Amino acid sequence: MASNSVDKKDEHLYRMRHTAAHVLAQAVLEIFPTAGLAIGPPIEDGFYYDFDLPRSLTPEDLQEIELHMRGIVDADLPLVYAEKSRGEAREYLEALHQAYKVELVDDLPEGETISFYTQGTFTDLCRGPHVESTGRIGAFKLDKIAGAYWRGDEHRPMLQRIYGVLFETEDELNAYYERLEEAKKRDHKVLGKQLGLFANSSIVGPGLPLWLPKGATIRRILERWITDVELDSGYQHVYTPIMAKTELYKQSGHLAHYIDSMFPIMKVENEEFVLRPMNCPHHIQVFKVDSHSYRDLPVRIAELASQFRFEKSGELSGLSRVRAMTLNDAHIFCTEDQVIEEVKSCVRMVQAAYAKLGLTDFRFRLSLHDPDNKEKYVDNPELWERAEGELRQVFHELDVPYYEGVGEAAFYGPKIDIQLRNFLGKEETVSTVQVDRHLPNQFDLEYVGEDGQYHRPVMIHRGVISTMERMVSYLIEHYAGAFPVWLAPVQAIILPIADRHHEYAQDVAARFKKAGLRVEVDARNEKLGKKIAEGNAQKIPYMLVVGDRDAAAGNVSVRKRAEGDLGALSVDDMIARLTAEAQG
Ligand SMILES: [Zn+2]
Ligand SMILES: [Zn+2]
Repeated sequence: MASNSVDKKDEHLYRMRHTAAHVLAQAVLEIFPTAGLAIGPPIEDGFYYDFDLPRSLTPEDLQEIELHMRGIVDADLPLVYAEKSRGEAREYLEALHQAYKVELVDDLPEGETISFYTQGTFTDLCRGPHVESTGRIGAFKLDKIAGAYWRGDEHRPMLQRIYGVLFETEDELNAYYERLEEAKKRDHKVLGKQLGLFANSSIVGPGLPLWLPKGATIRRILERWITDVELDSGYQHVYTPIMAKTELYKQSGHLAHYIDSMFPIMKVENEEFVLRPMNCPHHIQVFKVDSHSYRDLPVRIAELASQFRFEKSGELSGLSRVRAMTLNDAHIFCTEDQVIEEVKSCVRMVQAAYAKLGLTDFRFRLSLHDPDNKEKYVDNPELWERAEGELRQVFHELDVPYYEGVGEAAFYGPKIDIQLRNFLGKEETVSTVQVDRHLPNQFDLEYVGEDGQYHRPVMIHRGVISTMERMVSYLIEHYAGAFPVWLAPVQAIILPIADRHHEYAQDVAARFKKAGLRVEVDARNEKLGKKIAEGNAQKIPYMLVVGDRDAAAGNVSVRKRAEGDLGALSVDDMIARLTAEAQG
């Protein structure tokens, strides 16, 4: 029932946004009577319309267009539906000099109904649906102007796209903009710079971020922690090279299915090498070093493994879209009988990791292949059916809710994807668990079974905290840079009030460091107020002020992030408190 009413609300919003695009087009024609109209669909959060205009739009134009739109809304014009034959439609649009629309009509398949909607003096080619009249389009605001090629084709004319944001109510519209403002403050690129976590260098290149000491500290904490979790769970950690001969990827199938995402091949001494796009084939080679008996299985091989992905420079962004990344990767080689249990423990490991990281806004997706897309997936229907069934069983046995995504599988097998939602409600795949019977075949993997015969192991690919880059970018935004004590690069900063307190401050710092805590001393010759303001801006969990009285009593005066002054504590008590919080 709940999902039904959500669908209805979505459907209504879709109609409002669709109608708003018509209102926008009418308003633009009122101001620019010769405007060429292209397309104007509803989109997430609003709508847009592409126009061919005699000149470039300015922000003032947007205000005027919006004013005209309000006039059309106030007139509450009904939307009237009419059909035309192909010939009538062409003739009608040609008379209006709407060449883009004529092209759209020409592209409609034979036999398709050609429909128009009219509101007042304005008529647009459209399939609908809409709300009944222009007075019912909800609360909107024109947002921005962008360039867009006609039909996305760089050889066709560049049009001007006007974006609008639209929600049912004024309150929802305001909430959207508030969320956007908050998201800007949380932007990991902004905070990454402000907090000194990572940087980019133009001479190193795009999509190749540099981890600065504080960002590296966060990453090291995550890496040490997940490595310990894995060692405790029977994984064996290895190091393998970041490149290999192309033959390795020919055999794995990556060259055939994944070449567009790989960097070009390098030729050295008559051999071809490639930066690895994935680590699986390397771990397969690790498995193949020894011969295996059923008694050894499952073999779980893990690595904090760097891999490379070619992404267009325009798509790169901070730490979240990069060309070199380090994955918390592992491959489990097991018997057929062990698959379900192994996948279950991977899912449990993800759940435990997310609990530790404080991530709650995620859902499980069962990513299936698309049987109609033979190009993209290994062609073996039986294999797919079996593996997809196993993953469904895992969800049922763990009693974990999930949804299905057709066409989201890896080329060699279905996956469990953990979809993490960001502050603006957008979802991204972060962690995955995949069952694979393809690569073990490609590489002829085997073990000796209880029956003394050779058998093929199943391979499970899994990443728990995903790439360090993506997870840290997510965590920065999730915590708005105010990391919990266990993750904070600096857990406490010690602020001497005057020069004469420096020695005591250093003394205190040494005791914290000895207890394994991450502290710094702000020994600059600055006013205390300024040091506190900067400590706040750096989002450090604790500020420990030391003055005459503190030094005499062996105390620190404690200020906690977001809570303020907590009074004086002995150094030992503060170390105990911070140590307890650092357990996470
Ligand atoms: Zn429409
Ligand atoms: Zn893999």
